[in-house]
Amino acid sequence: MSSPTIRSVRAILTSPSGSIQKRLIVVKIETSEPGLYGLGCATFTQRHAAVATVVDQYLNPLLVGRDVHRIEDIWHLVHVNSYWRSGPILNNALSGVDMALWDIKGKIAGLPVYQLLGGKCREAAAIYRHADGREPAEVADRVRAFQAQGLRFIRAQMGGYGGRLSKIQPPEGSPAGAYYDPDAYLRATVRLFAHLREELGDEVELLHDVHERLVPIRAIRLAKELEPFKLFFLEDLLPPEQIEWFQRVRQQCSTPLAMGELFVNSKEWQPLIEGRLIDFVRCHISAIGGLTPARKLATLCEAFGIRTAWHGPGDVSPVGHAANVHLDVSSRNFGVQEWAGFSELEMEMFPGCPEIRDGYVYPNDRPGFGIDLNEELARKYPCSEGVLDWTQARTPDGTGNYP
Ligand code: MG
Repeated sequence: MSSPTIRSVRAILTSPSGSIQKRLIVVKIETSEPGLYGLGCATFTQRHAAVATVVDQYLNPLLVGRDVHRIEDIWHLVHVNSYWRSGPILNNALSGVDMALWDIKGKIAGLPVYQLLGGKCREAAAIYRHADGREPAEVADRVRAFQAQGLRFIRAQMGGYGGRLSKIQPPEGSPAGAYYDPDAYLRATVRLFAHLREELGDEVELLHDVHERLVPIRAIRLAKELEPFKLFFLEDLLPPEQIEWFQRVRQQCSTPLAMGELFVNSKEWQPLIEGRLIDFVRCHISAIGGLTPARKLATLCEAFGIRTAWHGPGDVSPVGHAANVHLDVSSRNFGVQEWAGFSELEMEMFPGCPEIRDGYVYPNDRPGFGIDLNEELARKYPCSEGVLDWTQARTPDGTGNYP
């Protein structure tokens, strides 16, 4: 019996929230078999038009006519076809194709993707949500509100990532931007977790995202000062450019470390895994090229006693969130899943979204990822253009910083 072949590959852009921080990109692959198609997430909100160009102008002509079953071979072909490879634009375009092919394979088999990955290790994946506030007491109230919804894992922040709470006076003539005071943030964060443990006790699992705001030696100090408060994990303590410092963090404290949402290349995560320098890998699955490299990364981590905590912010399409959940339930070394939640409109636009009950996310049991896209509705919410502010980070004296 001959396999279906790829008839067309195209990018679908939509922004149900209207925000330039949530421009979603979904790749749709249609096949030679009428009615058989797959969807994949290629969302890179900061450079959405560039990803769409790669998909429509380069990957469609490359892939038309190829056997839909040959996912591994197609992944490698697309990865090297531009000769220069990796990077978030190319990887997101590749992810859109890769996930769509997994979706198609599941539909042909009549099985959910988690079955193709080896079947469930658990019925659902534990999620964490994000609690923020301007004062420790306000953050504690938000944590309690999530606990009341059945959540056991909650990420606590104060004043957003990097804590933009203090008044900053940069030198005259400094450019506009997002100004952060790293030292005020460090002090406030230690105060926050002291308060949360005092108020909430030891049962709740608390997480925190440093968002690479601190210079390395201050990052080590924060990890040490948070050690008594027994975090589930401390996320993105250092930028990818400074991963050699993780060795020194490890020598100083046992605060569990999660890293990887900015990684785009296997050479970035390999030394951290081989050196057992992190406890959770949390790559953004579309930014590393899709489900195919993510399942290999999960397997690599399992051998080294490292768990997964895939990046799951608002700028992932519901198709991408579904892919996260299929991998979560079928990976023995799954840790926790970040969860941003869907709006009513997103759930209408993407029928079959994974469902949350009592702090767990459940994949549905339909073939493939079990999720669809109402293209007519998506067209009513086009992506808008604009310049991002939050990635124009600066320290108090006006120096450009990591966002
Ligand atoms: Mg993060």
